[in-house]
Amino acid sequence: LDVRRHLVLVPLAAVLLVAACGGAATRATSDAGTQGRVSIVTTTTQLTDFAKVVAGGRASVYGVLKANVDPHDYEPSPADLRQLAEADVIVKNGLRLEAWFDDTIKAAGPRGEIVDASGGIELRGGGDPHIWHSPANARRMVASIAQALVKVDPEHRAEYLRNEADYARQLDDLDVEVRANVARLSNNKVVTNHDAFGYYLDRYGLELVGSVIPSFDTQAELSANAIRDIVAKIRSSGVKAVFSESSLPPKAAVAIGKEAGVKVVEGEDSLYGDTLGPAGSDGDTYLKMIRHNTREIVDNLS
Ligand SMILES: [Zn+2]
Repeated sequence: LDVRRHLVLVPLAAVLLVAACGGAATRATSDAGTQGRVSIVTTTTQLTDFAKVVAGGRASVYGVLKANVDPHDYEPSPADLRQLAEADVIVKNGLRLEAWFDDTIKAAGPRGEIVDASGGIELRGGGDPHIWHSPANARRMVASIAQALVKVDPEHRAEYLRNEADYARQLDDLDVEVRANVARLSNNKVVTNHDAFGYYLDRYGLELVGSVIPSFDTQAELSANAIRDIVAKIRSSGVKAVFSESSLPPKAAVAIGKEAGVKVVEGEDSLYGDTLGPAGSDGDTYLKMIRHNTREIVDNLS
């Protein structure tokens, strides 16, 4: 892991030099409200969606992470660094979800507001970073983005707050809908690809029996012992299905499901865990992602 970090730092340093030579002179003032559109850079796809909703048409939103790219393991591009350097607002998930982000920020030398979207959220499981899976947490994250936009562009305060309030109502409706759907299940035992769904499972009373990669981080090693362990748990506890994730290779989940003799939910039906899906997919917005996941869980556990 250390070796990889050094490999990442070399191109970052090169880009930093380029940015330092060319960027400063052409930089606009930080008063976004009077200089045109606010520029927002977000790390995760969920934050990109939230930022677009709150900003309405008032901002350009650049998402560093694209659909189906693993946020735990990402190498930022020179374009990412340029966008970060010039952004008015930068929104990160925090809680070390984007473990690569601290070095990236150092390299970019940004001038904008940095928002840690995990602020004010009650954490589970020793700092589980997958906070967005609870719509109640999503509300809090959206509020943090709205506050930052109001700060850098106070002229359009009313608009940002109205967008936030409209979306908060949709998140509340979503929460009620998911709760009603999950409540119909008699079997509430879930096995996922990695430990990404804790906030969702806790909120709606589902039980995580185990994960293919039993870690908050997708980079953890799979051991033969861990695989034997999860197969045994699936068999002994009456789990009906193993849920693969859209941004992870399904191979290990498929092998475990086969060994345990249960269905593996994969391909188009995979859960959206760490990223939204590409445009046109069943999970290309946050609201659609939660509805897709809920439908798959309820259908496969019924
Ligand atoms: Zn994850």
